[in-house]
Amino acid sequence: MSSPRLRDRHGRVATDLRVSLTDRCNLRCTYCMPEAGLPWLPKPTMLTDDEVIRLVGIAVTRLGVTEVRFTGGEPLLRPGLRSIIDAVTDLEPRPEVSLTTNAIGLERLAVPLVEAGLDRVNVSLDTIDRDSFKELAKRDRLDQTLNGIKAASAAGLAPVKLNTVLMRGINDDEAPALLRYALAHDYQLRFIEQMPLDAGGTWRRDQMVTAAEILEALRAEFDLTPDPAHRGSAPAETWLVDGGPAKVGVIGSVTRPFCGDCDRTRLTADGQVRNCLFATGETDLRDLARSGAGDEEIAARWCEAMWGKKPGHGIDDPSFLQPSRPMSAIGG
Ligand code: SAM
Ligand code: SF4
Repeated sequence: MSSPRLRDRHGRVATDLRVSLTDRCNLRCTYCMPEAGLPWLPKPTMLTDDEVIRLVGIAVTRLGVTEVRFTGGEPLLRPGLRSIIDAVTDLEPRPEVSLTTNAIGLERLAVPLVEAGLDRVNVSLDTIDRDSFKELAKRDRLDQTLNGIKAASAAGLAPVKLNTVLMRGINDDEAPALLRYALAHDYQLRFIEQMPLDAGGTWRRDQMVTAAEILEALRAEFDLTPDPAHRGSAPAETWLVDGGPAKVGVIGSVTRPFCGDCDRTRLTADGQVRNCLFATGETDLRDLARSGAGDEEIAARWCEAMWGKKPGHGIDDPSFLQPSRPMSAIGG
């Protein structure tokens, strides 16, 4: 058993690795990507499947990472996804492997990915209204997302977690309808406060739908009581719905930050370690690996990268700077 080594100087230990497999996407969610897309990472700068597998292997076998979540961009667009999951679930000790996805294509891929070893999925679902979906994601693909979610559940990926970002004037009136939908299908719904990670830099604190507002909207229809289960390092605060056992979560990334309990480390599709979503610096493991460095040296560089993690995201500091990479290129 490896000992956890991704420590920072504030006493936190990272055991949860988020790996972005691509910065490309087939949606254009307003809070994430501009409608025209972005200059994508050039192919030669991206980690190959073998390089992803090697770096994840170092994190799991040498650095104490126990959970690996593949994200993006849209990870289902990565042609090698199945073989990457296959290899990562063969690691010892076997990490828990999950996917954050918009579910487009999951109808076809859910069963093969489960066969490869995938344990869980988190699906982004911001609306169940076709017009709002088109307005928010700039594509008319709600049906494909809903069918993908159904397929994930049918393939045994339980619990299916749904992530929702509410945007004022677009889908901020849909919180109760989304919860009704989630309860009816036995999916676990979590609302996430919008963070300043959009490519256009259009985020405004006073426009953001807050955790408090989300709870108020839900309470108009549901009885919410605090979940007695221990929260641990989970970012979502959870509530029992109408006495339970169903729950709903709210991730108040901005107004109720959980940085003190953060256990994450991130690897971008071009092989850069980020110690925080909001980090303004990165540590290059790709060129280190390509220069012939051994696993030990790469592991040591990863440790150094995490040691410098800041205590919090600092969104409320007057000196806060939005990271130059948008969420789609970091991996949410
Ligand atoms: N394409 C996949 C998806 O949408 O699930 C994976 C990548 S996406 C960047 C990962 C998560 O980040 C999604 O749940 C999305 O809603 C969330 N996200 C993106 N931009 C965000 C922002 N500005 N604030 C809060 N969450 C954001
Ligand atoms: Fe694509 Fe996910 Fe960003 Fe939406 S949130 S544009 S689905 S990467």
